[in-house]
Amino acid sequence: MTDLSLAQDGPARHWLFDAALGGIAALGAITLAHAALPDLPRAGPPPAARIAPPAPAPQPAEPPVLIAFQDPVPGRVVVSPFGLRQLPWEEGGRLHAGVDIQANFGEPVRAAADGVVVEAGQNSSYGRYVALKHAEGLTTFYAHMGGVAQHLRPGLAVKAGQVVGKIGSSGTSTGPHLHFEIRDRRDRPLNPSLFLGREFAEADDLPLRKAQRFGRTVRIAHVSMIPQSKRALMEAKLEREAAEKALRLAERDPKAASVGAFDAASAARDAATVEKMDGLKVLPIGEDGRPRGQISS
Ligand SMILES: [Zn+2]
Repeated sequence: MTDLSLAQDGPARHWLFDAALGGIAALGAITLAHAALPDLPRAGPPPAARIAPPAPAPQPAEPPVLIAFQDPVPGRVVVSPFGLRQLPWEEGGRLHAGVDIQANFGEPVRAAADGVVVEAGQNSSYGRYVALKHAEGLTTFYAHMGGVAQHLRPGLAVKAGQVVGKIGSSGTSTGPHLHFEIRDRRDRPLNPSLFLGREFAEADDLPLRKAQRFGRTVRIAHVSMIPQSKRALMEAKLEREAAEKALRLAERDPKAASVGAFDAASAARDAATVEKMDGLKVLPIGEDGRPRGQISS
């Protein structure tokens, strides 16, 4: 009780006041207050020994995977990307709605992701093809194949990497390759290069908007072979070009016009006839409702 001056401020003062009123019973409290005095100015956390040990940090869970994409022909490269492309028998550029992956006849074509078969069939432009449905309504499409895996039927579940067919050159094809597409739930084509080799945990992670964009540049396709079904178109185009050239020459040199213009006109007429007869200028809507007429395969 000699250190009262120390208790003039702070909580200890209250203790002392009580002690004066409370007599002996309060002495213990005074002692207690004194014992506590040296600690009062201290700030900060209580001694570590009183802290409960921290709960062990939860093990990071495996990130959930909504959908993971892998190359449909592992180890093979894209030779014709997604975007505007002009084929030799076409007048202008059209959207190449997928990528062309070059490979050898007979090489296995694999499902790019876990999914369900929605179609396995054949038509004149895409040849033998398979369509798979995946999470978030995405579909993948495998075309120009030499064959479809025998057991594939609509409704069958397939795992990523499972063989769905083999490389070929069926339909309107310029040599052995896989035409591969990814489409959104509204059947709009997406750039496969933004998906292959990547996995996505949530629907919001999917680059759906970005993958619909393509540049304005029309890439001129170099093909090693003109498909039989396009030969007439190709010839018509060559004739038309020759006719246009003849017309330009005739305009520059009117004296040569009589012969040149006649040739040009008749060549153009022939070209138009061939085109009309061939009937391939506008491709039909496919069996699956895909707008074959607007999309290059
Ligand atoms: Zn293609």
